[in-house]
Amino acid sequence: MQKHNFNSGPSILPQTVIEQAAAAIKDFNGIGLSILEIGHRTKWFMDIMEEARHLVKQLMNLDDNYEVLFLHGGASTQFMQVPYNLLDQNKTAAYCNNGIWGSKGIKEAKLFGNVHVASSSADKNHSYIPKELSIPGHAVYLHYTTNNTVEGTQWHHIPATDTPLVSDMSSDIFSRDLDFKKFSLIYAGAQKNMGAAGVNLVVVKKDILGKVNRPIPTILDYRQHIASDSLLNTPPVFAVYVSLLTLRWIISEGGLNVMAQRSTERARLLYSTLENLPLYTLPVATEDRSEMNIVFIIKDASLEKLFLQECETHGMVGVKGHRSVGGLRVSMYNALPLSSVQAFCDLLKDFSEKHG
Ligand SMILES: *Cc1c(COP(=O)(O)O)cnc(C)c1O
Repeated sequence: MQKHNFNSGPSILPQTVIEQAAAAIKDFNGIGLSILEIGHRTKWFMDIMEEARHLVKQLMNLDDNYEVLFLHGGASTQFMQVPYNLLDQNKTAAYCNNGIWGSKGIKEAKLFGNVHVASSSADKNHSYIPKELSIPGHAVYLHYTTNNTVEGTQWHHIPATDTPLVSDMSSDIFSRDLDFKKFSLIYAGAQKNMGAAGVNLVVVKKDILGKVNRPIPTILDYRQHIASDSLLNTPPVFAVYVSLLTLRWIISEGGLNVMAQRSTERARLLYSTLENLPLYTLPVATEDRSEMNIVFIIKDASLEKLFLQECETHGMVGVKGHRSVGGLRVSMYNALPLSSVQAFCDLLKDFSEKHG
């Protein structure tokens, strides 16, 4: 049966990327060795790393003030690594508290300095993005999560402030074009929209570094990674390669504007279908809805189990709210074809007719 992959992460990848990655496991570029058995300091891998870094900069339209790193540890490690490198005990960082991931970032930052909560949507279960921010003039950076994977909200603007911006873009990286030059640091776990689990993209503007007094362990120091071109220790070779394949795919499809068009088209179709069926409700404020993670509720909660069974019968994978919030969620990342969204909408309508 054909599967429709709505997984929240790790999640759907382009079929061509899967095929190329599979081929490279058997024989990388015809060299007679698997990608899994070549050294990270070989020219083969250094070329992969260099091209991946180059394509990130190309897609983000960034100049040489920025460095691109591929690191271990997932986005969760960045919750700690960011303040380790940027925040001192006597200094303050501003954080937007708009959901589970942002609040985890806040928890870690408090280990390193003062945290000022610039805005919080906790009063309404994080179902909206507050537009007013309070940012102390002396804040060393403002941190926010561009897309709240669990709660289904997304920032559709970049906050207007002179404070350096730091963003967790794990779940909407490369789904749209942004003015990336407005950010001082961007990070994203690869496994949602740009590759396989195991690698983390960090894009950093160099002028934000070197301003803390504490000693930083070598492996956590962005400057050490920059100095060694992300080869300070063995990088996750295969995961970096899958990211490269995905970056190439994004570019060959037409780049970020094409990704954004497709994303908007998928989201319009699904949200308008849900809006028109009285069986379902959408908890997120209309203007803050995520195009990546669509959260909805069946009004009669006792039907949820049956709905999920229907999904399974029809090969719809990953339709389930995050374990912390419940309800239902589908994730629609770059590689998801519109036909999968259409199939899901048909199921929503069918189910509504039977049980409405
Ligand atoms: C998934 C996710 C994370 C956690 O990523 P890990 O790679 O599992 O550490 C952090 N932030 C956001 C926005 C996410 O969606």
